[in-house]
Amino acid sequence: MSADRLHRFREKRDFSKTPEPRGRGRRGRGSGEPRFVIQKHAASSLHYDFRLEADGVLKSWAVPKGPSLDPREKRLAMPTEDHPLAYGDFEGVIPEGQYGAGEVIVWDTGTYRVLGDEPAGEALENGHLSFWLEGEKLRGGYALTRMGGDGRERWLLVKKDDEGADRRRNPVSTQPESVRSGKTIEQLARR
Ligand code: MN
Repeated sequence: MSADRLHRFREKRDFSKTPEPRGRGRRGRGSGEPRFVIQKHAASSLHYDFRLEADGVLKSWAVPKGPSLDPREKRLAMPTEDHPLAYGDFEGVIPEGQYGAGEVIVWDTGTYRVLGDEPAGEALENGHLSFWLEGEKLRGGYALTRMGGDGRERWLLVKKDDEGADRRRNPVSTQPESVRSGKTIEQLARR
C-alpha cells in the first residue's frame, strides 16, 4: 500500500537542479519520538510548511499565515505531498524555474506526541489529529482537522487552550529566524 509515498514528491522535482534532499529508499525510519518541523518558505507566496513524521514520511501542509499561539485563531492548512524525513533538515535556496523556487529555513523543529489513542497516520486518515509539540519555539497542544466540503481538501490548524497558549505573542513575527542557522529568509536571499 505504501507502494511509494514519496512518488509525488520526487516527480515534481529535478534533483540535478535543486539542492533539496531526495530522501533515501522508500521510507525513512525515525528513531524515538516522532519529529515535527515547520519550514518557512518564500515561494511565489510566503507560507509555512508544517510537517509531522508519520508512517515513515513527513506528512505536510502549507499554512499561509503560519502557526498561532492563540486558540481563537484557525489557521488554514492546505495538504501537500508527503516529504522524506531527511527533508526536515533542509534549509537553502530552491533555484528559479524549479518547483517551489525560493528560500527555505527551518523555522522550528522538535518532537511531538499524539494526544489520543489512534496512531498519527490513522488519525490523519480519519480527519482529526490532536498532538503536543515540543519545539524550540512552539510548545503545547494543537489540532489539525480536515474540513468538509467539495473541491480542494483543506484543514485547519488550531492551538489548544493550554499553558502554551498566548493571545498576544505572535512568534511568526517576533521570532522570524531559523532554529538551525539563526538566519532569516532575507539573510538567506542576500547570500
Ligand atoms: Mn512550501
